[in-house]
Order: sequence, then structure tokens, then C-alpha cells
Amino acid sequence: MTALSDFFIAQGDQSFRGKQVYEWLWKKGAHRFEDMTNLSKDTRALLEEHFVINHIHVDAMQKSKDGTIKNAIKLHDGLIVESVLIPTSKRTTACVSSQVGCSLNCTFCATAKLKRMRNLQADEIVDQVVAIDRQSRLYHQKPLTNIVFMGMGEPLMNYPQVLAAIDKITSPEGLGMSPRRITLSTSGIPKMIKKMADEGVKFKLAVSLHSAVEETRKKIMPFTEHFPLTDLREALEYWYAKTKSRMTYEYVVWKGVNDQQADIDALVEFCRFAPSKVNLIEYNAIGDDAFRQAAPEVIERYIQVLERHGITVTVRRSRGKDIDAACGQLANKSQA
Ligand code: SAH
Repeated sequence: MTALSDFFIAQGDQSFRGKQVYEWLWKKGAHRFEDMTNLSKDTRALLEEHFVINHIHVDAMQKSKDGTIKNAIKLHDGLIVESVLIPTSKRTTACVSSQVGCSLNCTFCATAKLKRMRNLQADEIVDQVVAIDRQSRLYHQKPLTNIVFMGMGEPLMNYPQVLAAIDKITSPEGLGMSPRRITLSTSGIPKMIKKMADEGVKFKLAVSLHSAVEETRKKIMPFTEHFPLTDLREALEYWYAKTKSRMTYEYVVWKGVNDQQADIDALVEFCRFAPSKVNLIEYNAIGDDAFRQAAPEVIERYIQVLERHGITVTVRRSRGKDIDAACGQLANKSQA
């Protein structure tokens, strides 16, 4: 705050202006100088000329042996979200958060234990991308190539802000990134998937399926009680009909949960409804573990059966596991 006051004094203004601006930034969470209504137009213009409001900042940064960087990002109100930079030889991906915590209750996910504290503002999402892009250039000498909404939160529960952020990221005046390089991952909210399809969005869709057997899915993702698989399937068919963009099903195979032939058959059946591919994700332990990843032979069987039915399968190896930056491990541990 003193720096701000000094700035005003140097400009021949009064020092208390520094306090006013500080309060706008830290108490009222203003994102733009033009919103600081108790300052004169000239003062706001002066601020615009000299400063940029960066209302998030990297509070802590952890680097994994594999090059993955996990950031604890502090928001203007002190809450923390996590964003991850994932480099591979071909691309560098930012995994960003859309909410502080999450209101869904997937039993295998660390973020679910935090509960939802609030939705992120569009600017807070864009700023994560900007921060990660900067890290990508600094540590990997290349700009960010992809963005996945697979950090904390359910993006479709914060739909307007997520869409506004994507607009900003893709618009030429913003970051100018192609929407085809952005993937929104949802646990599967049928109504919202249809809405997105209606709005003609151009980014890719990933759905955390994990089981195509109703009872099993309800057990591991209890909120799906209100969103039966039949509704999800219908919404996904609708999505494909409107966008012609095939979706990815994210799927972890767990011992004793979805490791039987009937589980594989149900997945094959589910994949028939709309063009799709399956991404088998390695399970990342979250501490209190009721879950175990299935044996490699089971995963192999999944791959064989899916491929035999002409379904594309990819296997996602975990990145950043040693720093709890992998899928489902984001839980602000550094804060604990
Ligand atoms: N809420 C969104 C996005 C965040 S989770 C969604 O559900 O898709 C990103 C991905 O990580 C999802 O596919 C989720 O199911 C998966 N995931 C959650 N916990 C995990 C864990 N412990 N190990 C591996 N993947 C996990």
C-alpha cells in the first residue's frame, strides 16, 4: 500500500488515494480500474497507464521430477486454487481450476473433500492460463499449446464464467488460442452439455464416465443419482449431432469396482451411441484409500476389447504424482 501511496504523492496527488485503490483491490475484489468509482476519471486513467491488475498470484510452486509444475494460486480473497503445467515433448498443457473446491462428491477425488467454496471469475481462470504460459516460456522455452479444465471444480457448475474465460482465451484480442486446443472436462451434467451444444461451442469435450453401469457409477459418483446414464447418453448424442465433435470418456479402472467383463461390455455399449474415444486414466491415490487401480492385465483386457470394437483408446499416464499434481489429487495440501 505504501508503494501505491508513494506513487500518488510522486504524481502530485494525495497519499490516501493509495489506500482507496488498495481497498478496491483487496477488500472489494475489483478487477478493473474503471470500477473504482470513488476515484476521478483522470485518476483511473492514470492508473490504467501505469499498472496492470493481476488479481491472482502464485503463492507456492512445486516442481516434479518429470517437469510438471503445480501452482498454489492465491486469489484476491485469500482462497487458493491449484493450476498445473504439464510439459511433454510435443505440447505443454495448462490444467486449470474452475471453482474453489467442488460441490460434487466423487468418492475417489481429493478435491471433492474440500467442498465448494466459490466459483472462479472468468478473469481468475484466464489469469491462471497467463501465469502458466509464463512458466512454460520460462522453464520450457515454449508457449503453452493446450488447456484442459481438469483442475479443481466442475466447469459446468460455473458455466457462464468458464465460457467467458474461454472466449477471452480464444479471442484475437485475448490470447488468440484455438478452441480446438481446449478441453472442458465434466463429470457429466446432461442439461448443460445440451446447452453447450446449442451455443455452438468449438472446444473439445471430455466426460468423466468411469463406469457405464448405473449402480456402480452412482456408488462412486453419488451426485449422478440425479443424472442417470440414459440422460447423459442422450445429451452426448445431442452434443455430437450438433457439434460433430467426438468426445472423450475418461475412465479409471479400479479393483473390485469396474474390473469385470460386464463393465467392459457396458462401456463398449455406451460408446456405440455417439462417436467417442476412451482415455484410460491411471488412478492417483488420495490418501484414505478405499480404491486400488486394477491389475495391468485388466487394463490390457479393456484396451483389447475396446479396440476390437473399433473404439480408440488412449492411456493417460500420471504426471506430477510426486508433488500431488496428478488428476484428482488437487486439494491444497500445501495449505494443510
Ligand atoms: N469436475 C471435472 C473436472 C475435474 S477432474 C470432471 O469431473 O471431469 C479431472 C479428471 O480427473 C476427471 O476425469 C476425474 O474423474 C479424474 N479424477 C478425479 N480423481 C482422480 C484420481 N484420484 N485419480 C485419477 N483421476 C481422477
